[in-house]
Amino acid sequence: MNLFEEYVERYRKRVEKIDAAPSATMLHSNRTLYELLRRRHETMLKEWRAGKPSCITADAAPYDLIQAMGMRAYSWEMAGDFLMRRFVPEYLRRIRATGFPDYGCDRVQLAASFIQAADAGEVPKPDCVCVTRADCNGMTEAMIWAGRHFDVPTVVIDCPLTTHVPFEERWEALQYVVEQFHDMIRLFEKEISGVKYDEGKLRESLEIYQQSRKYQAKFRELLKVKPCPVLGRDAGRMPPLDIVGDPLVVQYYREAAEEIEERVKAGTGGGMQEEKARAGFLSSFPFFADGFAPLEERGVACPYYEVGPGALPVPTLEDERTWGRKLSPIECQAAFPLSDPWLGTWQRRYEDVREACIDLDIDGLVHYAMPGCVTNNGSGRIIAKKLEEELGVASLEVEYHCQDEASFNEAEYAEKMHEFAELLIQRKQSKAKK
Ligand code: SF4
Repeated sequence: MNLFEEYVERYRKRVEKIDAAPSATMLHSNRTLYELLRRRHETMLKEWRAGKPSCITADAAPYDLIQAMGMRAYSWEMAGDFLMRRFVPEYLRRIRATGFPDYGCDRVQLAASFIQAADAGEVPKPDCVCVTRADCNGMTEAMIWAGRHFDVPTVVIDCPLTTHVPFEERWEALQYVVEQFHDMIRLFEKEISGVKYDEGKLRESLEIYQQSRKYQAKFRELLKVKPCPVLGRDAGRMPPLDIVGDPLVVQYYREAAEEIEERVKAGTGGGMQEEKARAGFLSSFPFFADGFAPLEERGVACPYYEVGPGALPVPTLEDERTWGRKLSPIECQAAFPLSDPWLGTWQRRYEDVREACIDLDIDGLVHYAMPGCVTNNGSGRIIAKKLEEELGVASLEVEYHCQDEASFNEAEYAEKMHEFAELLIQRKQSKAKK
């Protein structure tokens, strides 16, 4: 079986499992998410067999635009994040055997390992590459390497800083990205058979995003309720970013938000009867284990993940506030990489995290420091110090991979989380006494 067939089977079984025995604590709307993922891979399989062009991407890429050009946007970063546990060791072994550095983040290593997966016929070979310089240099370089390896047209979108600069400069930056998009459209239309940009399709896709954004905002709003109506695993769960233009994404967020609202109205909670403090996760969390459970079993809720549902400050077609006017579809798409929370100085990330801590009443943050991550780890220490000084928010830094479980010590991790939970609860109780 190729990887897409494996995924179709995997998500079919997950849906069956939920139907056979629904969980008492996890959201039932997860069924829709698994259905979405099954359908996504089924569609990709058909498109691969039919020879539809595939554009590989990563990070904050213009997914809607790529699809509006008649291609499949396939993020190898998301593919790595969602890679099944049983394939991870082999994918990592293969990429490391090429000499690719193993001391960096495993997310980059796994994204790069899809080069070998494509060579082995496990996923389609790309027809082109499009990446943005919005946050992670390691990821961008890995995708440029993929472009060279397959000798296909490769576009890297340069993204200037847009926070803490005058409006005119921000607007100029947006137009600069739009110009690069137009150059990319011309190049791909010329070089790849069957590629044709359709602005109507882009608008349609962005309108679907706009609808999902409304439900994401509602989802996020409900996370303020105490005791937290969802467990950490559900609070941070979301479809891969490269699934765009699919109404099932809207359905998933709508169902999730409505289900949480029902729990809140019924006062049934989300698996935690008593909430003693609140924690958030920055950067990442372990995908191979329930990294929230050791906090939750001590009474610390985990409603916040830095880039979870509703967290990304991405403007929609309707939004006039962010840019002072409504954006055209292509401008709206250009605003996506420019809204990346990691594009900019540490202040930008700090402001987003600070706002979330106030909004969700967070007492402590777990900085899940991925080895070798310059983007997060550098600013993480500054953010920790400032949040402690300004809001009294405590921080715990742990260094693990998100997919490579060989480097993970579960007992050590649980002990650190238990100690952190005790600290947060003690601090909360002393604050309440004052
Ligand atoms: S965790 Fe850091 S190094 Fe890894 S992909 Fe994300 S930004 Fe890049």
